[in-house]
Amino acid sequence: MTDYLQDYGLQKLPEFGGPSVTVEILRLDQIHPIVSGNKWFKLRYYLAEALQQGKTRIATFGGAYSNHIVAAAFAAQKSGLKSLGIIRGEAPDKPGKSLSDALSYGMELAFTSRDEFGQKQCLIERFTDADTYWIMEGGYGKPGARGASEILDFAGSGRFSHIICATGTGTMMAGLIKGAKQGQKVMGISVLKNHFSLESEVRALLEEPENHQDFAFIHGYHFGGYAKHPPELIRFMREVWHKWQVPTDIVYTSKLLFAVKKLTEASYFPPGSKLLLIHSGGLQGNRSLPSGTFDF
Ligand SMILES: *Cc1c(COP(=O)(O)O)cnc(C)c1O
Repeated sequence: MTDYLQDYGLQKLPEFGGPSVTVEILRLDQIHPIVSGNKWFKLRYYLAEALQQGKTRIATFGGAYSNHIVAAAFAAQKSGLKSLGIIRGEAPDKPGKSLSDALSYGMELAFTSRDEFGQKQCLIERFTDADTYWIMEGGYGKPGARGASEILDFAGSGRFSHIICATGTGTMMAGLIKGAKQGQKVMGISVLKNHFSLESEVRALLEEPENHQDFAFIHGYHFGGYAKHPPELIRFMREVWHKWQVPTDIVYTSKLLFAVKKLTEASYFPPGSKLLLIHSGGLQGNRSLPSGTFDF
């Protein structure tokens, strides 16, 4: 691990899965407050490739609240690279917390209309130069999945029957499928509403034998869509903190835990299952809520 990253580990969640299913969570949120969770894993091979190709700048895409944008800005700065963030939507009067963070890590920002943002190839042509290395929105792509496959490189990961994560682009999930042992089932809880192209997007990142791993997608737990956080979700997040001392974020990890809780209550997992949940970070996203919403 790189020097600015902290150690992270597994935490048991007693009784989270009821009497017959054990649940543990991999606390990637502890790696770093900014490049927390999966983003460091997803970015590392893009940055390595950029340096290898002699590029001096990375460029990527994201929304104004994107964890990926902030992590890319920070990781680029740490790697001695400049960075450009192409942001969906018009420039705000005052940048929010995520964009302020990205700016503080030296990222240059370019705002585009939603229509333009959909035309990635045009944007690449407009903003590129010979020194720029491009990373797709959300870090989607094979180098991202390759980095994420290393999330499971720890002793004892083979004893779990199920590995479960939240999915945005599905890049982390593709990595987990690559890193899983035979017989382990990988499950993705989608945080986007009706993101039914997810399966083909994940499959596109896999190589031939990995396509036959056991994996599944769960679509019913987005709570109305990306970053939507009705009171029921906030109550659940407080309960998870009080009972298990796990801080969760409103976009990804709260929905992961909620889904797993509901699935275990519905006896979805066979008795004796050993679940590994991936806490992929994202806690800084909670700063958009009124202060004092949570005790963590
Ligand atoms: C970006 C992110 C994800 C989603 O990762 P994908 O590889 O895009 O599916 C999940 N959790 C957190 C906290 C994230 O920031």
